[in-house]
Amino acid sequence: MPTDTGTLLTRRWAALSIRARLSMIYATALGVMLVIYAVFVYTTVRERFVIEVDHRLDQEVEIAEQALVRDSSGRLFWRMPDRVDGYETLANMLWLDVHLPDGALVYRLAGGYAKNGIADELPFGRRAPGFFSAKLDSGLSLRVLQREIEVDGIRAVIRTAFPEEQVERELASLLWVLTIGLPLAIGAAGISGYWLAGRVLAPVAKMTDEAQSITADRLDARLPIANPNDELGRLGTTFNDLFARLGQSFDQLKRFTSEASHELRTPLTVIRSVGEVALRERRDEAAYRDTIGTMLEEADRLTQLVQSLLMLARADSGRIVLGREAFDLGRLTWDAVNHLRVLAEEKGQQIEVAVSSLMVLGDPAVLRQAVVNILDNAIKHSPPDAVVAIACRTHADLAEITVADQGPGIPAEHLPHLFDRFYRVDAARGRQDGDRRGGFGLGLAIARWAVEAHGGRIEADSAPGKGSVFRIALPRERTLSHPEGTTP
Ligand code: ADP
Repeated sequence: MPTDTGTLLTRRWAALSIRARLSMIYATALGVMLVIYAVFVYTTVRERFVIEVDHRLDQEVEIAEQALVRDSSGRLFWRMPDRVDGYETLANMLWLDVHLPDGALVYRLAGGYAKNGIADELPFGRRAPGFFSAKLDSGLSLRVLQREIEVDGIRAVIRTAFPEEQVERELASLLWVLTIGLPLAIGAAGISGYWLAGRVLAPVAKMTDEAQSITADRLDARLPIANPNDELGRLGTTFNDLFARLGQSFDQLKRFTSEASHELRTPLTVIRSVGEVALRERRDEAAYRDTIGTMLEEADRLTQLVQSLLMLARADSGRIVLGREAFDLGRLTWDAVNHLRVLAEEKGQQIEVAVSSLMVLGDPAVLRQAVVNILDNAIKHSPPDAVVAIACRTHADLAEITVADQGPGIPAEHLPHLFDRFYRVDAARGRQDGDRRGGFGLGLAIARWAVEAHGGRIEADSAPGKGSVFRIALPRERTLSHPEGTTP
């Protein structure tokens, strides 16, 4: 069936290598162009030949006309001068005859014709004047020009002829050259196309070899790029960038997993060792209560850690769908302050609040987490009786929350990593057993994700001994702004 053949061909074609396909397309395109060109050359040359023969016949008739005169007896007479008005003699003519309209022969010149061993005569017949082709009994075909003339009142018919075989012979040899040359040219095009495609595609083969050896452990390997500016080079660069990003994500994931397991192990070890010690000998109720208290604290820490990890994992996988509601950022700031006030009071600290009512679009629960984390850090790192200042205002078209504390400050070398996961300025301090509020280094990472998910920015400005200022800047929806006032 034709459709089956079609699908089979399509499948075969698709199974070919790009190199083979390119050379076939190249050879076919060139072949079609050459055939069109050959047809054009052949028809043009053929037309040219016919025009030339006709022109020659025309000239011969003109010469013949001048060679005819009427003699004194009133008959048509052929005078044969050496030169007729500057023309050569007619000796080279193949065939020329002159008849009276009734068919009586006046003159015949068949020099070249006879020389060519042609015995046949060209039969005379009345017909419309002009060019025509005539075939002799011998099989010879002639191009004939027949013209009626009048010499001093006597009407006559001149005929002159030229063998068409001569033209055909030349055309046949042209056709022969074209027919032999065409397949040769197409074959050469195919071979050179195959070679050229091979050279062009050579970098692909190299890239394929290298790509095959890239595994998850070798994501630092890169594809070889011969020319970064051509299409293949750009493709290779794109893949290399992809490998770089994959490598980064992979490293991050590995680090995250190992850090997370490490952090999970610490509270579990504490719970286990506290339990073991308590079981070793009989103790009074107060000691058991103390042990259980420590265990619960560690369980709390574990819960907190698992919650943070879950949140980050969900954020990474894009499973957290952020709400998009209009809410008052000032009110949210107040919420966070009220939530943590008791911690500040425990340390005799004072929280200074300067908050304006500011409408923004987003997910209040997620943003609240960010503000709580930062304020919690400020309280945690500030000394007793210090002042923590929190402000919420507009700044250069942005809604901005700043938290300033009088804590120890952060050395400059830590600032770029502060928002990384599990990053702690003083890792030992975070795990001190005595410091029950030592964090996991995830609070700022979560805050950064929350702020950036809202199209905002978070940054820290700090120096040792000078306290720290954390700044959250969020884009503001202009349409939502309304007169600012202090939120209670
Ligand atoms: P953690 O939960 O351990 O506090 P964070 O991600 O919140 O983790 O903070 C990362 C590190 O940045 C902390 O270990 C702490 O050393 C430092 N840091 C954060 N906020 C402050 C601050 N206000 N003053 C001094 N250091 C801070």
